[in-house]
Amino acid sequence: MATTTETKSATHQSAGSSLLEDALNHVRAAGRRLGISQGMQKLLETPERELSVALPVEMDDGRLEVFHAYRVQHSRLRGPAKGGVRYHPNVDPDEVRGLASLMTWKCALLDLPYGGGKGGVTVDPSKLSRRELISLTRAYAAALVPIIGPHVDIPAPDVNTNDATMGWFVDEYERQVGRFEPAIVTGKPIALGGSEGRGESTGRGVAHVAKQAMDRLGIPVEGARVVVQGYGKVGSDTVRFLREFGVKIVAISDVSGGIYNPAGLDIDGINEHVANHPKRLLEGYSGDNVTWISNAEVLTLDCDVLVPAALEGQITVENAADINAKLIVEGANGPTTGEADTILAERGIKVVPDILANAGGVVVSYFEWLQGLQGERWKLDDVRVRLDERMSTAVGQVFERAKAEGVSLREAAFLIAVERVVLAARLRGYSSAE
Ligand code: NAD
Repeated sequence: MATTTETKSATHQSAGSSLLEDALNHVRAAGRRLGISQGMQKLLETPERELSVALPVEMDDGRLEVFHAYRVQHSRLRGPAKGGVRYHPNVDPDEVRGLASLMTWKCALLDLPYGGGKGGVTVDPSKLSRRELISLTRAYAAALVPIIGPHVDIPAPDVNTNDATMGWFVDEYERQVGRFEPAIVTGKPIALGGSEGRGESTGRGVAHVAKQAMDRLGIPVEGARVVVQGYGKVGSDTVRFLREFGVKIVAISDVSGGIYNPAGLDIDGINEHVANHPKRLLEGYSGDNVTWISNAEVLTLDCDVLVPAALEGQITVENAADINAKLIVEGANGPTTGEADTILAERGIKVVPDILANAGGVVVSYFEWLQGLQGERWKLDDVRVRLDERMSTAVGQVFERAKAEGVSLREAAFLIAVERVVLAARLRGYSSAE
C-alpha cells in the first residue's frame, strides 16, 4: 500500500487522505492534552495490520476484471478489529486507514470490547450485475480469510454494501473454513443469524443522539427544521426516527440531488418513490411542491439541525462559513474536515462528532456478534432498549467531559476514547510511562 507521505505528495489531496490526516490530528490533540509519550502516540497512529489485494472477477460478458481491495486493522488493543466494508470508486488505502482509525475511537468511546478496522473495494457497484457483485464479494471474503475471524476481525456493511452482501460474505467464509461461523460478520440477513434492529440501528442512534443534543443545547425538538444529506441506510433511518420526535424534515438529498420544501417534505410519498426507483434514488421525484437543489445548496440551507449522512469531506473550508445550522450531527464518517471544524467552532455551531453520533450501528453489531457466539435471538424491543441506553451513556459522558475541560464535543469524545485505548496498551504491558 502507498505510504501516507507518498499519497500526500500528490498534487490533489483525496478525501481519503484528508480523512486520515484529520483523524490523526484529533488523536494527536487528545494525546497532547493527556500528556502521553511519543512512543504511545506513534502506537495510536500506526495501523497494526494492512492487507492489499487484487481480486480477479469474471464479468458477465466473459471479460476478466481485476479490482483493488483493502482491509486495515488499525488497533486490536481493546478487542478484535471491528468495522465495515465499503464498495466505492473513490476507495483508496488512506481512506480505509482513516476509517479504520475512527472505528478504534468509536468502539472505545462506546466501551465496546473491540478495536477498529475497515475494508473497501475500489469499484462502482452500480455498474455490476448481481452475479458480478456476488463473485466480487466471494473473492474479497476468500482473500480476507487468513486475517479475519470472530475473535480477530469482524467486518460489517458500510457504503454500498448491505445485509445481502454480508450473506454472500458469510457463506464464502464458511465454505473456506469448513464450519458455521455466524459471528464472522455483522449486519447479516436475519434469516442467516443477523440481529433484529441492526438495519435501523445507525439511523436510530443518530436520531436519538440528535434529540439528546438538542435537549442539552436548548433547541426545541418539536417542529425543529432538519436537513439530511444522503438518503441511504443511515440517512433514511435517521429521518424515520427523527420524525417520531416531531421534527420537520425540510430537505434531503442523495447522489442524484436534493429536494427542499420549507413547509416540510412528504417523507411517506418520497419513500414510496425511492422504493419503486430501480436504483433506490430520489431522482425523478415530483410530489408535494418540492424544489430541486444541488447537494452543495442542501448543506447551506437555513435549518436547526444538519445531518450529513453521505460521505466524508462534505463540510470543508469552502462552505463552513456558509453553514446555516445551529447544530450538526455527523451521521457519516468524517463529513467535516479539520479546518471546517475550526470555522464552525468560531461561529458557535455545535458539532456532534461521528464517533458518537453514528455509533449505533456498531453497538447493535456488537449485540449481533454476542447473539452469534451464544446462539441466541434477542427481541427487537430488547435491542432498542439496550442501544438507547448505551448511546445515552456515551452522550452524557461526552457532554460532561466537554463542559469540564472547556473543549468541543469532538475533543471530549477523542479524550475519552484515547484514554481508554492507552489504558488497554498500558495494562497489556506495552508501556509503563503512561
Ligand atoms: P449508503 O450507501 O446506504 O448510502 C449513502 C447515501 O449517500 C446514498 O443515498 C447516496 O446516494 C448518497 N450520496 C453519495 N454521494 C453523495 C453526494 N456527493 N452527495 C449527497 N449524497 C450522496 O451508505 P450508508 O451505510 O448510509 O453510509 C453513509 C455514511 O454513514 C458513510 O459515511 C458511512 O461510513 C457511515 N456509517 C454507516 C454505518 C452503517 O451502519 N451503514 C454506520 C456508521 C457510519
